[in-house]
Amino acid sequence: MSFRHEAGIARTPDRQPMKFDLHLHTSRHSPDSETDPFDLLRAARKAGLDGVVLTEHDYLWPEEELEELRAAEPGLVILGGIEVTGRGGDMLVYGITDASTLPRGIGWGDLVKEVHRQGGAAVAAHPNRWGQPFERVVRDSGAAIDGIEVMSNNMDDELRREAQDLLKSYPHYAQLGNSDSHAPWSVGCCCTLFDAEIRTSAELVTAIRARKCRALVNRG
Ligand SMILES: [Zn+2]
Repeated sequence: MSFRHEAGIARTPDRQPMKFDLHLHTSRHSPDSETDPFDLLRAARKAGLDGVVLTEHDYLWPEEELEELRAAEPGLVILGGIEVTGRGGDMLVYGITDASTLPRGIGWGDLVKEVHRQGGAAVAAHPNRWGQPFERVVRDSGAAIDGIEVMSNNMDDELRREAQDLLKSYPHYAQLGNSDSHAPWSVGCCCTLFDAEIRTSAELVTAIRARKCRALVNRG
């Protein structure tokens, strides 16, 4: 599939945007997921993804285990992130190596400071879901988050509209589209196109911070 005519992404002739799903759960490390990690990789290929970021609840995949997955699907970029159950809401965190400093229930202000100290990026998962007063949490915590999820399998049309509205108040946020998948069928249903070459977590963080990305419903 070509993205040649998609608006909003500056293209160079020899580089296609990279398509990522950056919010995924597996049964190996998230009790509420039914997806075997290797089935997830197969589903990601089928969905036409170039890369995935595994973001279990309050758990960061060890690099040794990620290596197993990379060996099984060498054509896919496979990175580890984490979905931290913060006070006030869930936060997707990328590019960190030590999750022990991000305990469940941590306030967003401290959470984001620690993520930035480790050189990572923090993106609010499904803003406003389940009555979360997103703007109040941001204001009260002073959290300088790097972006928000604007679509996922766990965001209905209204939440997606509200996320677009939030961007008017927070135009500096990166916009991510993800699946938040807990079952193989939904892997890659929404995704993020990056106008950047991303092979490492450091490159991912740089691209998010530079907002070289946009969200889309993935039609394969
Ligand atoms: Zn999730």
